[in-house]
Amino acid sequence: MVTIRSPYEDSGTWLRGNVHAHTTESDGTRPPEDVIDDYAARGYDFLALSDHDTLVDPDEYRSQTGMVLVPAVEVSAGGPHLQHVGASTEVDPDEDRQAVVDTIDENGGFAVANHPKWLHEFEHWSREELSRIEGFDGIEIYNGLIQRHAGAARATDRWDWLLSQGHRLWGVAADDSHRGGDVEEGWTVVQSDERTPAAVLDALRNGRFYSSTGVTVETVGVDGNELLVSTADADRIRLISDHGVVQQTVDSSTATFHLPEQLVRGGDHTYVRVECLGRGGDAAWTQPMFLDS
Ligand SMILES: [Zn+2]
Ligand SMILES: [Zn+2]
Repeated sequence: MVTIRSPYEDSGTWLRGNVHAHTTESDGTRPPEDVIDDYAARGYDFLALSDHDTLVDPDEYRSQTGMVLVPAVEVSAGGPHLQHVGASTEVDPDEDRQAVVDTIDENGGFAVANHPKWLHEFEHWSREELSRIEGFDGIEIYNGLIQRHAGAARATDRWDWLLSQGHRLWGVAADDSHRGGDVEEGWTVVQSDERTPAAVLDALRNGRFYSSTGVTVETVGVDGNELLVSTADADRIRLISDHGVVQQTVDSSTATFHLPEQLVRGGDHTYVRVECLGRGGDAAWTQPMFLDS
């Protein structure tokens, strides 16, 4: 028999935020003040400004907003882009991306492979590189910016591919906003006990969050062999396991999945995750729950 490891807890408040945004400190069109005001006006709880190889110090802007500002950098030079959330310094953009991930992890940051399916080959991050690197905390399963660039905004297939190889990493949705029209395309909602940068970072690192392009998850948890999810606005909820296989589908805003015997017995299956589908292609993705013997 296996234990279903849920990263979620019964306590905490859901806080919505974007962990990928650019300003005039790199190639964004708006200064940090304007980007902060935009997200705050939309009711976001937290925001990470993440300019290319440039750390914008949130302390300069905390008096401006009640939003939690999480320091971040998008490590960009020298190779595929890597998000460093919880940055206290600019990590050297070493061409060896394993070295960058290791440094981020050593510094207690949250390391994410960004927009893996950007560009004409749909392989900004090659499969080989994604598979080789150990210790990522996450992968962008949705990057809003790529909607208006070559490639695919969604990358849940790469996520399932990596999870099925035994990599344990969380799925992140983000705007990657560079201008006004890029805002509120994809976000993360963390389950947190406090409204502080440290608490948000802790929730991200521990997978205590879900990712969304529009669907709101209200509760998600495990009770024995049952996985329970309720949403405000999903039309269809799917249970997915290794290699992206859809195990069960419920056409409702809530679902109770009884894990089938072949999953609970262990062996071939290593994780389950839940996809909540709503109107107009909106979705929410829970984090994987690992099936540990
Ligand atoms: Zn990028
Ligand atoms: Zn970016």
